[in-house]
Amino acid sequence: MSYSVKVVKGQFKLQGEFHTAEPNQPIRDEHGKLCGITNPRRVVHHHSYGGEAPFFQGLGDGRLWATRCDNKDCEVAYKALFIPFRIHCPDCLEKNTPLDITDLANRTAHVYSFMICERSGAFNSLEKPIRFINVEFDGVSTILMSYLLGKTNPEIGMKVRPVFRTKQPTFTITDLAFVPADTKEKDLPAGFTFSK
Ligand SMILES: [Zn+2]
Repeated sequence: MSYSVKVVKGQFKLQGEFHTAEPNQPIRDEHGKLCGITNPRRVVHHHSYGGEAPFFQGLGDGRLWATRCDNKDCEVAYKALFIPFRIHCPDCLEKNTPLDITDLANRTAHVYSFMICERSGAFNSLEKPIRFINVEFDGVSTILMSYLLGKTNPEIGMKVRPVFRTKQPTFTITDLAFVPADTKEKDLPAGFTFSK
């Protein structure tokens, strides 16, 4: 399957095969009687990151980006920080300002809650059991979902630090993970570094 997506004058231009049909196979019962067929299809999805692109670029660069409402007339959320990265303020609907919060995250990230999953959905690329953690940062209005790397199990209140897949970034949310705050750089999993 070969395909490419380019951007020309602000629009996605697709070339190649995005839908590939493959030969099917009969399904037969114990007596050799036909009772069905397989129907293999491969599909390449493409996603526009739109206004969230700086967040995913940041992960590959070893930086964590949030957004902030800078609308003085916003009664509820003026100066509120949001991560996950919210393009627009949910209260006044004005466009938020992107803000690099890496240093704040390095200093104050801690586990708000967690869950450990023994099983996963299709296409999971994370090591199992997956230790999902909800991460809280001082002064941030939202809680970020991520996962814990390393040998230690999460605990509520545990201090953690963000790590980034900077060597071969996938430009997806799995480029961001957390480790216990006292982890040494040499003990990080392959491909991950502390912030740059
Ligand atoms: Zn607002």
